[in-house]
Amino acid sequence: MAGSNRPVPIDASHLHTCIEVLASIGWQEEGGLRRPVYSAAWVRAREKLAGWMRAAGLEVREDAVGNLFGRLRGEDDSRTILTGSHLDTVPLGGKYDGALGILAGLVALQALHEQAGRPRRSLEVVALCEEEGSRFPAHYWGTRAMLGLIEADELKRLRDDQDVTIAEAMRTAGFPPERYREAIRHDLEAFLELHIEQGRILFEERIDVGIVQAIVGLHQRSISVAGRADHAGTTPMDLRRDALQGAAQMAGEIARLVEQEGRPAVVTLGKWEVRPGAVNVVPETVHFSVDLRHPDEATKQRLASAIWSCCQAIAQVRGLEVSSDILSDSLPSNMNSVLQSALIRAAETCGVRWRAMPSGAGHDSQEMARRLPTAMLFVPSVEGRSHSPAEYTPPEDAARGASVLATVLYGLAY
Ligand SMILES: [Zn+2]
Repeated sequence: MAGSNRPVPIDASHLHTCIEVLASIGWQEEGGLRRPVYSAAWVRAREKLAGWMRAAGLEVREDAVGNLFGRLRGEDDSRTILTGSHLDTVPLGGKYDGALGILAGLVALQALHEQAGRPRRSLEVVALCEEEGSRFPAHYWGTRAMLGLIEADELKRLRDDQDVTIAEAMRTAGFPPERYREAIRHDLEAFLELHIEQGRILFEERIDVGIVQAIVGLHQRSISVAGRADHAGTTPMDLRRDALQGAAQMAGEIARLVEQEGRPAVVTLGKWEVRPGAVNVVPETVHFSVDLRHPDEATKQRLASAIWSCCQAIAQVRGLEVSSDILSDSLPSNMNSVLQSALIRAAETCGVRWRAMPSGAGHDSQEMARRLPTAMLFVPSVEGRSHSPAEYTPPEDAARGASVLATVLYGLAY
């Protein structure tokens, strides 16, 4: 797929202005963005984007679920190389998550159109809908619609916190839900997504871009520990079956196991429930969550079973009962190796520092990779801040990433 290489420069201040203008749509007084899918702010943001796409010389189109496209038609118009990211945000999210990938794609296509004219192959930028699942539990909705991965019953089953179904919300926004299958695409040749890292590795190491090798697999389980409630004053320590002391020891051991494994393995025990939850009662039951991520499936499974074995061993020593439910277990998603090499060449052509890395967060790209060659490019997040109004990527860093994106698209499409 690789064609000729030359750096395609991007105007940093133009990209930065677009980011600020788009972020003004749905920005809340308390700080942070609210742009849930099919909301008024989401509709206005799309109108703004469509205007910019037209001004950049792109043909604008939307699909049946609300993905918005700007197309730069190639001499061979039968296939499409797609770039972009998601337009929705988490509640009180930042200006860059998703939006930067759309705008980088937009300015990249604009620069290519201006500097190199008509491509051999068609290029398209997309603003995808409902990646975050911040209104409906419908992660990667726009991407799944394009790939034919939406199940018919989701339309009426998925509800927001006002009890509105996704079908009703679509209709209100002007998208008849029964037409959702018209969004399916058969012409996609590749997908390239630029995204903020949302972590602090590039920022700490002062590296310009990250080239993603794989998006981690996720293993989530809940662990329940049961002991016996007793009087906090009259029960000697050696006669207790304290569920919390057992669970705390498990937590310490789980952290030790994963720390010993080293980067990029991560584990988070973020949700705890202690019963009966009284100051003067020995805890009877504890439920806690485990969120384990790794880009290598065999390592993820090995760690998951080591975690469960250590919980069982600790429970046995302390006379506690332990049980566990697996809440989800997803495979890592490998990025396409040919596209990774093309990104590395583009980064070197642009003279930027790059490193290969996994993605610890989920992205539309993990779904795209199930059906078509896909690759991701990260730009630094200052102090790793994300899903927060504090999210920031300096204009020069954003433009360097967009330039690498434009350069790889040049190589693929011209
Ligand atoms: Zn995102």
